Amino acid sequence: MAILVTGGAGYIGSHTCVELLNAGYEIVVLDNFSNSEPDVIRRIKELTGKDFPVAAVNLLHAPDVSRVFAENEIEAVIHFAGLKAVGESVAKPLEYYHNNVTGTLTLLGAMREFGCKRIVFSSSATVYGADNKAPFKETDPLPAAASNPYGTTKLVIENILRDLCVSEEGWSAVLLRYFNPVGAHKSGLLGERPKGVPNNLVPFISQVAAGRREYLNIFGSDYDTPDGTCIRDYLHVVDLAKGHLKALEYKGAGAEAINLGTGRGYSVLEVLAAYEKACGRKLPSRQAERRPGDIAESCADASKALKLLGWRAELGLDEMCADAWNYEKNNI
Ligand code: NAD
Ligand code: UDP
Repeated sequence: MAILVTGGAGYIGSHTCVELLNAGYEIVVLDNFSNSEPDVIRRIKELTGKDFPVAAVNLLHAPDVSRVFAENEIEAVIHFAGLKAVGESVAKPLEYYHNNVTGTLTLLGAMREFGCKRIVFSSSATVYGADNKAPFKETDPLPAAASNPYGTTKLVIENILRDLCVSEEGWSAVLLRYFNPVGAHKSGLLGERPKGVPNNLVPFISQVAAGRREYLNIFGSDYDTPDGTCIRDYLHVVDLAKGHLKALEYKGAGAEAINLGTGRGYSVLEVLAAYEKACGRKLPSRQAERRPGDIAESCADASKALKLLGWRAELGLDEMCADAWNYEKNNI
């Protein structure tokens, strides 16, 4: 019996594959490599010394997805595959709804066809709205729509999974709401490789440190926070990957939303200072306008993950920055 990892060649998926293989799970990776490189698969195999089947399949092609289930005995699915660029989702809403929502419906159809009823889904802290107050709890009321189409796909998919679990006995869906995953594998072989200009803070700082960008724009310095810059709950991608193993072990039925974050927030300036420590020098930055849609503070109440899954983040901001820099240096 194997775990199907959709999007297993991506940033979070690849780290999760390593943890699964090291823990003795058999895996099958499904990815169309629209936002990843096939070489990542070679690196996962090199790091773990283990082999596994890879299906270069688009989730939107139902017969191909069914074939993966027909050819492998899949006991559960970890579903990472999706498009994730917030700005692009505003420009291309149809592509985002189609890829993320239709892709998930196709996957769920194949799971039902083959009697596989366990799924762990990559949701996001973006489902919490501007009206929620940090630290966010899973019981907080959610808005009907997020501030961008990408976020709304996560809300829609969470609802689909909840409805499915109510409609049919035996389904279990763990909706993992990730806060801000950063960092990389210690080996420097796996990490985040954004195409084009990075949207996210740590990948942008990495490129400044590597000399690929001139300076960091600090989006907003007049927020109602101690140093005026926004606060986020950053967590190490390896801690996040380990959270997926705990979610697989979870035996509860029905749909369960669970935050994965450290519960501790850091400001943009604190992250920049930690990265400077990691790379050993001052990095150029400038104050810039607020970025539309940003909220002052996003931070997890991480107590449910500890209570239900026995999971808590172990790695701190210094390790996140050191590992991000190590990956950047190794892959310039
Ligand atoms: P990623 O882009 O690195 O990985 C996603 C993978 O899915 C890629 O390898 C891509 O090729 C694949 N994929 C996309 N559409 C596909 C399709 N139709 N068929 C087959 N494969 C497809 O992204 P990531 O950062 O690893 O994120 C993984 C998941 O976690 C995504 O669902 C994302 O929305 C969610 N998430 C990410 C973050 C973050 O900050 N990285 C935060 C919250 C939630
Ligand atoms: N940020 C920034 N400069 C950048 C990218 C991000 O100042 O080049 C800020 C952004 O405004 C936010 C924080 O860093 O306050 C984290 O941004 P990111 O996009 O990584 O995460 P998100 O806001 O989606 O949680």
